[in-house]
Amino acid sequence: MQANLKMFKNKTPGISRKVPSSCISASSEMLDQVLPQTQCQLCGYKGCMPYAQAIVTGKETINRCLPGGVETLFALAELTGQDATPYVAGMKQKAIPIQLAVIQEETCIGCTKCIHACPVDAIIGAAKQMHSILSDICTGCGLCLPPCPVDCIDLITLNKHFSKEEKHAKANRARLHYQERNMRLNQKQKIMGSHSKAAKISADEIKQAIDRVLHKRAHGIKRGQGYKITL
Ligand code: SF4
Ligand code: SF4
Ligand code: SF4
Repeated sequence: MQANLKMFKNKTPGISRKVPSSCISASSEMLDQVLPQTQCQLCGYKGCMPYAQAIVTGKETINRCLPGGVETLFALAELTGQDATPYVAGMKQKAIPIQLAVIQEETCIGCTKCIHACPVDAIIGAAKQMHSILSDICTGCGLCLPPCPVDCIDLITLNKHFSKEEKHAKANRARLHYQERNMRLNQKQKIMGSHSKAAKISADEIKQAIDRVLHKRAHGIKRGQGYKITL
């Protein structure tokens, strides 16, 4: 996912044609309805709704949602009255399939960093304890991978066909979790200011945990053991 992000930042699929906001009659809510709600930020915005708002205000093109692929491209084109044709070839090349994150649970050191990165509350676990991913909530956004200090989270592509209805239901669920999380964080920020729970775990504790993992690995625990995936 990170490699895709770099590629995408360097080269937008197709030709970029921004359309003035005065030419778009659809609302950002209408556009958000056809976005996949992966909340991956690959479009260059903090989530699907900010991207929808950028299109509506004429600041952004309709071809930046790689998880949505061609299906979302056409839906955005229809809602905004634009021609998707110039973008289709590029989108076909760069579209990202539905993915899921998995934690190598025996390697996890319980630092909680991934929980704080997850935009839809798909990770459960407590400080210094093993963490798990709720596969029916995870959108496969990949945002939990970079903060993990022991590199024990992988993204896997789901070899399953999702119908339009299933994708819609998945997106609705993700939107709800994303909105609930944002509301909770806003409330928390108001109450506590900028102090985060993650700050309570010291760098020393993380270092000690990493040393424990390295010790375990040196004694034969293989990467990838212990996946539990239920769909
Ligand atoms: S799914 Fe990702 S790339 Fe698509 S609009 Fe949402 S945040 Fe942007
Ligand atoms: S668990 Fe990871 S990949 Fe899944 S939604 Fe949360 S941050 Fe994204
Ligand atoms: S960031 Fe990695 S090590 Fe830390 S709790 Fe999450 S999975 Fe475990």
